[in-house]
Amino acid sequence: MTATDPSADQALTSVEYRMREAGEWLKLEDGVIENLIAPRRVLEVSIPIRRDDGTRVRFTGWRVQHNITRGPGKGGLRYHPSVNRDETVSLAAAMSLKTALMNLPLGGAKGGIAIDPKSLSPRELERVTRRYVSEIFAFLGPDKDVPAPDVGTNAQVMAWVMDQYSIGVGHAVPGVVTGKPLALGGSLGRDSATGRGVVEAASLVCQARGTSLEGKRIVIQGFGNVGMWAAQLAAGWGARIVGISDVGGVIASEKGLDITALVRATQRGVGSVVDAGVGEVIARGVERSTDVFALPSDIAMPCALGGAVDVREAKTLTAKYVIEGANGPLTPAADDILNDRGVIVVPDIYANAGGVTCSYLEQCQNYAHLQWDEDEVNASVVSTMRSVFKRLHAFSQEHELSYRRAASVLGVKALADAHQLRGLHP
Ligand code: GLU
Repeated sequence: MTATDPSADQALTSVEYRMREAGEWLKLEDGVIENLIAPRRVLEVSIPIRRDDGTRVRFTGWRVQHNITRGPGKGGLRYHPSVNRDETVSLAAAMSLKTALMNLPLGGAKGGIAIDPKSLSPRELERVTRRYVSEIFAFLGPDKDVPAPDVGTNAQVMAWVMDQYSIGVGHAVPGVVTGKPLALGGSLGRDSATGRGVVEAASLVCQARGTSLEGKRIVIQGFGNVGMWAAQLAAGWGARIVGISDVGGVIASEKGLDITALVRATQRGVGSVVDAGVGEVIARGVERSTDVFALPSDIAMPCALGGAVDVREAKTLTAKYVIEGANGPLTPAADDILNDRGVIVVPDIYANAGGVTCSYLEQCQNYAHLQWDEDEVNASVVSTMRSVFKRLHAFSQEHELSYRRAASVLGVKALADAHQLRGLHP
């Protein structure tokens, strides 16, 4: 089978295309790649709830276990109006590649509900979460499938998932979710782990080219959990964060934005970076958020939603390195343009894998009924990022592949090897 070009910016087609391309490169036996691409299970559930005013409303949710050959399904739970079946399948497939590339003993899964969490009260959000969990209950569990936070969800949502599941089995099961609050068996360091991994990836890619993060100009799209930690940690390395954007627009400062003041303003509850009184507001509105990539910079970190960097952004982006903090932030067309322009792209399945790596450490702590100190957790996340980068970099050099292709090949190979060893039932 020949890999055909991915159509436009469809995330599903794009991950499928990457896997097919990797399968061809690996010369996998016929039928193997088809089996790896197809999700193992797709659950679609109806979620009726009562609103606070007594009226009823119904939402739709999904949980996809894409690959569970190497271990339990693992992946986030997303609450966003654009969540749909195909996107969830695609994000679950990316998790299969991510856990395989990172050599974690986990499979790939993803879940989501098509809702705008900001339009619901906390009590309504809790009811949605509990009803969703009861609908997929039979497929969840520490050895089956373990959700974690993603776009629109947080530690509180994980606590509700844990509680609803625990009520069902009759005893507390902290290991059914990761990214939960510390008081329920969460891990120190989980909040910062994805951003820490993104910054480590940026530092390693610089080091591999004989330079460092110090003094580098960085632009970041997204100031949620990933972008905020990436900004703080990169500033700590001596990098200058010259631009940040979110749904409200773009702020910039050639000297470098005051990240401490920005974080403080966010904690005070400002709705957007443009309202924080930090730097200069150079654009307003969600549609201008990608203008941040046109600012003069060395490194770009798209840490918001998928598909944010398309043809226009790829043409105007000034950075030499793009580190994908979000899942699927580059459309395939943008990826091609950046590749042709010689921009080095560090793909999501490696660059943002600090989060799931820390989730795995949380699972280890839950199994052992232990809590590690924060330095130990952070050091373990960083050392995993380093050892996988060494392998990824060496493989890409040896075979003259981009990091994206090298990462897909290594991920698909780990999945194909596991399938081969386990054999086909019956
Ligand atoms: N949602 C995160 C991701 O996309 C974390 C997943 C996890 O920790 O299971 O990688």
